[in-house]
Amino acid sequence: MKPETLAIRATHYTDQNARAVTPPISLSTTFERDPDGTLSGGFIYTRTDNPNRQQLEYALAALEGGQHGFAFASGIAAITAVAQLLHAGDHIVAEDGMYNVAKFLLEEIFGPFQIQVTYVDMSDLAAVKAAIQPDTRLIWMESPTNPLLKITDIRAVTALAKQRSILTGLDNTWATPVLQQPLSLGVDIVQHSTTKYLGGHSDVLGGALIVNDDALATRLRRIQTLTGAVPSPFDCWLVSRGIKTLPLRMREHCANAQKIAEFLTTHPQVHSVHYPGLPTHPGYATNQTQMRLPGGMLSFQVYGGHAGAASVLSKVQLFTRATSLGGAESLIEHRRPVEGANSITPEDLLRVSVGLEHTDDLIADLAQALSFS
Ligand code: PLP
Repeated sequence: MKPETLAIRATHYTDQNARAVTPPISLSTTFERDPDGTLSGGFIYTRTDNPNRQQLEYALAALEGGQHGFAFASGIAAITAVAQLLHAGDHIVAEDGMYNVAKFLLEEIFGPFQIQVTYVDMSDLAAVKAAIQPDTRLIWMESPTNPLLKITDIRAVTALAKQRSILTGLDNTWATPVLQQPLSLGVDIVQHSTTKYLGGHSDVLGGALIVNDDALATRLRRIQTLTGAVPSPFDCWLVSRGIKTLPLRMREHCANAQKIAEFLTTHPQVHSVHYPGLPTHPGYATNQTQMRLPGGMLSFQVYGGHAGAASVLSKVQLFTRATSLGGAESLIEHRRPVEGANSITPEDLLRVSVGLEHTDDLIADLAQALSFS
C-alpha cells in the first residue's frame, strides 16, 4: 500500500456492535473474565494492554514497516524504555545534537546507574567510529538533528554497529515514518515523540518504539508493563486519528519548508539556513538516499547575535512563539535560551516548525520580522 492508503487503513476499525466506522474509546481499566476464568476479550488490565493502544501500536508498526510497535505516555518515556534495556557499566554513543531533554535524562537519571554517554557529531562517521568503546552497547542517532538539521548516514552507522554487535536506535520524530523508515536502513529501534507530527494537532502527548526483533520486543513489552509509562486510551485514539492525515500533512509541511528555506537564503539579514532540502546543505546527498522529502523543520541564523534573533522573534505575527513542532500552526523558537547552560546551539539561531498555512503569508511575516533587525 502507498503511505496515504496505509495511514488510513492501518488506523481503521469498525466497531462490531454499533458498526461505527471509527473505534470507540475504551476507558475501562479492567476487563471481565469468563466463568471459567479465561479472558476471551483478549485484555486483562489497561496498563498491560488496551484496545485503543493495541490499535495504535499496530498502526505504528505498519507505518514503520516493523513487526512490533509500542506506545508510551511521551517521547521521553519511550527513550527511557530504551535506556532501561542497558545495564550498569554500559556505554552509549549518542548524537551530540540529540534532543536536549534526552541528554538530561541519560546524564541525570541513568548516570547514577553507571551508564556513560559519549556525544559525537554523527554527520562525521570517523567520529562515531572513534567514540566506540569495548563496552558500547547502544548507538543513538537522531537525523535530522535538533536544531541544526545535521544528517547522519544511517546505513553507514548501522553497518559499523552490526560489525560490533552494538544495538542501534534512532529518534525519527522529525522525519516521521512517511519520510524515513530507519528499520529498512538497518536500525534496530525506531523511536518517536508522537506528540509531534503523528498526533499532528498540538493536543496530545505520546511516544513510540518500533522494532523487528522478537527478543527485543519481548523485553520492551516487559519494560512497558513494569514501568507503566503508558498512554491513556483517549491519547491513543487521538494519535491514531492524527495518523490518518500524516502523509498529506507531511507533503505540505515539506513543500512549505522548502519555499521558506529558499526565501531565507536570499535574505540579507540571514547568514545561515539549515535545511536538508537545500543543495548547499552538507548532508543533502546522503539525505536524498534516506528521506523521501526533507521535512518540515528548519533553522536559520541572523546577524546581530542573541539580540538579532530576539528581535525577529519579538516581531513575528503569524508564527507562534512556542516550543514543540509538528502541528498545523507554524511555530518559531529562539532555541539557545531554552536549552540551558550546556547548549551547543548558536545564540543567533531561530528554529521553525513550518505549519500548514499558505507560504505566501508565512514568508511575508518573516520578511516583516526580519526587515529592521
Ligand atoms: N525527540 C525529539 C526529537 C523531540 O523534539 C522531543 C520533544 O520535543 C522528544 C523526543 C520528546 O518527546 P515528548 O515531549 O513527547 O516527551
